[in-house]
Amino acid sequence: MPELPEVEALAAFLRENAVGRVVARADLAAVQAIKTFDPPLSALAGLEVTGASRHGKFLDLDVSGLHLVVHLARAGWLHWRTGLPAAPPKPGKGPLALRVHLDDGNGFDLTEQGTRKGLSVYVVRSPAEVPGVDRLGPDALEVDRDTFARLMASRSGQVKGALTDQTLLAGIGNAYSDEILHVARLSPFKMADKLGDDEVVRLHDAVRAVLTDALQRQVGQRAATLKGEKRSGLQVHARTGLPCPVCGDTVREVSFADTSLQYCPTCQTGGKPLADRRMSKLLR
Ligand SMILES: [Zn+2]
Repeated sequence: MPELPEVEALAAFLRENAVGRVVARADLAAVQAIKTFDPPLSALAGLEVTGASRHGKFLDLDVSGLHLVVHLARAGWLHWRTGLPAAPPKPGKGPLALRVHLDDGNGFDLTEQGTRKGLSVYVVRSPAEVPGVDRLGPDALEVDRDTFARLMASRSGQVKGALTDQTLLAGIGNAYSDEILHVARLSPFKMADKLGDDEVVRLHDAVRAVLTDALQRQVGQRAATLKGEKRSGLQVHARTGLPCPVCGDTVREVSFADTSLQYCPTCQTGGKPLADRRMSKLLR
């Protein structure tokens, strides 16, 4: 799932390439993707793109005061297209959800892979009208240490869940929370409200460091790799069974019904593997 660094890189790309252009038309290919009807999608046509920004993991294209807000969900992405075909796409076929044509013949496609469709598009007069945007906590890149400490202390649940709860802190998902906890040398199962002062400081520093690094990589490579979501520099996320780049221990996994987390036992849990029935079979 695209998280803060990926969505910010998309916004930066759109600021350079779409702002100043006029929307020629928007073709909806996946009817279920659009969640609003007033103003209609067609209201964007003829209006100039005046800005592109991000609210947590939501992308916000400002079109002369109307906002095209996008949540990419698990497998959504934005593909920049040069020289779009004039013929409208066939609805309901393939990954295409929405195509936006700009007046210079370029534009972008919003796509979503897989059968579980979660990509959401909203046309609103204010981003705050979008469900989810109105309830976002402070942005993970902006939150200061005191506020961060207060948020963690308010949360009687596991720190992994606290970091990824968008109403508490906006922008972090499954991948970067694994990375942040690894850098902070904290177990994902540690209770957020039981963190010591030094642990909160480490965690806040790790949030900054991991997101800033990822953002720099994403923005640096965006022109070349806007073809698909690509991440590099991950140390534990999606690296089950591989050596931890810090200590050499084997990265382990805890799997849940429809997600999983990765961590390094030596760096994060005092060498002790976290309980996971499926993994203990694999690693026996
Ligand atoms: Zn390690």
